[in-house]
Amino acid sequence: MSEKNLALLTFGCQMNKYDSEKIVGLLENSGIRLTDNLDTADIIILNTCSIREKAEHKVYSQLGRLTPLKKKNPNLIIGVGGCVAQIQGKKILQRAPQVDLVFGTLNINKLPGFIREIEETSARISDIDSNSDIDTDSAAIKREGAVQAWVNIMHGCDNYCSYCVVPYTRGREKSRTRESILTEIRGLSEKGFKEVTLLGQNVNSYGSDLSEGIDFPDLLSLIDKIEGIKRIRFITSHPKDLSDNLIKAMAELPKVCESLHLPIQSGSDSILQNMKRGYTSGEYLKNIDKVKEAIPEISLSSDVIVGFPGETDEDFEKTRDIIKSVRYDGIFLFKYSPRPETPASEFSNQIPNDVKQARFENIMELQKEITLNKNKKLEGKIVEILIEGNNKNDNSKLTGRTRTNKLVTIPTEGGFKKEDLTGKLIDVKITRANLYGLEGIIVGSRQ
Ligand code: SF4
Repeated sequence: MSEKNLALLTFGCQMNKYDSEKIVGLLENSGIRLTDNLDTADIIILNTCSIREKAEHKVYSQLGRLTPLKKKNPNLIIGVGGCVAQIQGKKILQRAPQVDLVFGTLNINKLPGFIREIEETSARISDIDSNSDIDTDSAAIKREGAVQAWVNIMHGCDNYCSYCVVPYTRGREKSRTRESILTEIRGLSEKGFKEVTLLGQNVNSYGSDLSEGIDFPDLLSLIDKIEGIKRIRFITSHPKDLSDNLIKAMAELPKVCESLHLPIQSGSDSILQNMKRGYTSGEYLKNIDKVKEAIPEISLSSDVIVGFPGETDEDFEKTRDIIKSVRYDGIFLFKYSPRPETPASEFSNQIPNDVKQARFENIMELQKEITLNKNKKLEGKIVEILIEGNNKNDNSKLTGRTRTNKLVTIPTEGGFKKEDLTGKLIDVKITRANLYGLEGIIVGSRQ
C-alpha cells in the first residue's frame, strides 16, 4: 500500500477508543500515517457510536461535511466502522454515496485488506461479519497514552436490557483467552505502562464462555502479579453479577484500585423490571453495603437513565432516593433515547422531552452537590497520584489520578519536570477541590 494519510474520528465509549488504537496500529503497519488534517487525508475513517439517537445523527452530519472533500479528491477513501456501521451495514452506502467502506465492530482485522481492495478496484464494500477472531495481535495496537492503557477482555453482552443496542452491535459475550490478555499486559509493562483499565460491557461475567475454568476475580489476581503494572481498573460491572469473590479480590489485591463503576440506571423496581436489569434496588443496595464494608475508601460511580417509558414521579423520586443514599462520587446521566430494534422503543408510555429534561436537570443538580461535597472532604489529605503527563489546559501543570479515580492537577513549580514525573507514583497534599477535580502540591514520591 503506497504512503497514505489516515484521519480517524472516534465517537463514543472506551471500547471505541481501544478499537481506534487497533485501527491505527493495523494501518500504520501497512505504511499509513495518522493525520488530524481532514483536508490532506487520503483515508478518513469514522469509528461510530449508536448508544443514542443524537450519536447516530452526528455520524450522518459528519459524513455530509466530508462530501466536498470527496468532490475535490475522488480517490479519497471514506470508511465507517463502529456500532452504527454494525447496525446499519450497507444502508449507509445507500444513504451516503460518498462512503466507500462499511466495516463491523468485530472485523477490524480485515481493514488493511478492505482498503487495498478499494484502492485496486474502486469497489464500495460493506462487510459487518461478526464471526471474526476477536484476539488482535496486541503488539500492533497504537496506544494513545504512555502511562495508562485500555485492555479489552471481552466483547459483546448477553443481558439484552430492553433499552440497549449493544447486544445488537457488539454481539454475544465472547471472552478473550487468559493468555492473550496476560501477553498484552506484559507487553504494556515492558513498554513502561503503569496502569491498565480492563474493558467489557460486563466484565463480571468474564470467562463464563471459556473452557479454561477462569472467572474475573481469577483474572484480576493473575494481572496483579505482573511486574511493573502498578494499578488495575475495570469498567463496566453489571450489578447482578457482582460476586462476593470479586469484592474480596478488590479488597485484597494491592494493585486493584478503590473505584467501582456500578450502573443502577433507575431506583424504581418496576422500572428496573421493565428495563430487564435483573436486580431490585434492594439487592443493589445490599451489594453497595458489602462493597463499602470491605473497602471503606471506595469511590463509586454509576449510570442513570431518566425518562424511561412509564417513569412516574414516584419512580423518579426513587431514583433520587438511591442517589442520595449511595452518595456516588460521580454519575453518567442520560435521558432515555429510543433505539432501533430495542423492545423499550416500542413501549407505549414514552415520556415527553420536556419532562425528561426537567428530571435530567434535577438529578444533575443533586449529584453536583454530592460530588463537590465528597471532593471537598479530600482537602488537606495526602493521597497517592499516578502522574499521566501535562495538564491538557495548562502546560505548566501536571495531571494525575488518585486510586479513587479523581483527577488531580499539580503545579510544577519547585523544579519538578514532566519527563521526571510522568508514570511515577507520588504523594500529593490536596489543597483545593472543585466539582471536576482536585488541586494539590507534591509532598513526596513513592518510587
Ligand atoms: S448490560 Fe449494559 S451493555 Fe449489556 S445490554 Fe445491558 S446496558 Fe447494554
